[in-house]
Amino acid sequence: MSEYKYYLRKIDNSSSNLLILELKPKDNQPIFSFRPGQYVLIAYRDKRGKMTDKHAFSIASSPTKRDSLLFGIRVQGDFTKGLELLKIGDELSVAGPYGDFCYDERKHSSVVMIAGGIGITPFFSALNYASDLGINNHLALLYSARKIEDAAFYNEIKDLAVKNKNITTLFSFTEEAVVFEKEGIINQRFDAGIIKNFVGRVDDKIFFICGPKPFMDAMVVNLNVLGVGAKQIKMEEFVMIPRKSVLIPWRNFAYAVGVAAVLFVTAFSLINRTTAVSSGSKNVDTSLLVQVNQGAIERLVSIYEAKNKALVDLNQQIIAAGLNGGTSAPVSSSNPASESSSVKPKTVPAPATLVNPTPVQASQPISIPRPRTRVS
Ligand SMILES: Cc1cc2nc3c(=O)[nH]c(=O)nc-3n(C[C@H](O)[C@H](O)[C@H](O)COP(=O)(O)OP(=O)(O)OC[C@H]3O[C@@H](n4cnc5c(N)ncnc54)[C@H](O)[C@@H]3O)c2cc1C
Repeated sequence: MSEYKYYLRKIDNSSSNLLILELKPKDNQPIFSFRPGQYVLIAYRDKRGKMTDKHAFSIASSPTKRDSLLFGIRVQGDFTKGLELLKIGDELSVAGPYGDFCYDERKHSSVVMIAGGIGITPFFSALNYASDLGINNHLALLYSARKIEDAAFYNEIKDLAVKNKNITTLFSFTEEAVVFEKEGIINQRFDAGIIKNFVGRVDDKIFFICGPKPFMDAMVVNLNVLGVGAKQIKMEEFVMIPRKSVLIPWRNFAYAVGVAAVLFVTAFSLINRTTAVSSGSKNVDTSLLVQVNQGAIERLVSIYEAKNKALVDLNQQIIAAGLNGGTSAPVSSSNPASESSSVKPKTVPAPATLVNPTPVQASQPISIPRPRTRVS
């Protein structure tokens, strides 16, 4: 994967904890090709001028938008707070694209996208992509956030659904004080009944889920209840495995040698003392002891060497996949054969707790709760 120089074209941090960034290629060339749902690794110069680690962010714009990339970012820690301080024109490094959490219009004729919080970003790309190309596939979006102000791209998504009749939306704002009378907006968590009522038949659909882990787990359980099979579910978790430093194998090796030396000295002095006690003499032939201990040490070192080799291989794979330089390796469930073997596939949880999932019967009354009356 390639690394590009981009610059900050627009920044919007008017909503609390939410940052919208637009990046453009430095040389004003068209952007690289990508598929809706892919992500990139971003790094920038911090206020001391030092290049930061690389962090993963899904591209929120459509691949049809050829001149810039859009990102929706939840501001939480040092990296994202640093992004907030960037000025228009500042340079960023963008590497990618990566991932396989992708909407494919040839395969996915009826799609259900379930987003929790900032997990909306890959779906916003897909919705724009389908609309820009006039794709006839049906895209149903269930989007949950605490409050409207937390919901990135909320107005833009509503506009898309008005313009494109193939897009249907159901919003849930679980902590919004105002209860909405409008259709398509609830303030209750998505459960199996709500999902079933909104999407209808489930056997002909593919379900994409993206959001915080507890949200994703709850949605998988809901889909299980509805009888949706694991093969129909694609998930992307916005979690990264902290990077293993390339120095770790050498640290381990030094540690192994140190341990071996301590073992050798301890064993040597113990045997020496035992021999001296039993023979009543301090004049021992140490060459035999050295030979005996040498075997044990060699075995110990070879075990550590094997472990080190595995770690070096792993780090090389991380480097080869362009995930080095302080980058954590993203966990992707949708991409078991992804470009980096360091990407740990996360399998869709087996319905362990739901060994015999009870599909919700069509006859079973399921109702989307009626909006409550406005709270004054
Ligand atoms: C494939 C993928 C796509 C993503 N897309 C988006 C997106 O579109 N929008 C968005 O807002 N976020 C996205 N994320 C998550 C984003 O990368 C992290 O939330 C962000 O980098 C964290 O930076 P920070 O400044 O908030 O935390 P930091 O202060 O940099 O990190 C604090 C601590 O948390 C650890 N850490 C950093 N990131 C994560 C993480 N994701 N999970 C667990 N621990 C972490 C760090 O190692 C550090 O120890 C995505 C993640 C992945 C893997």
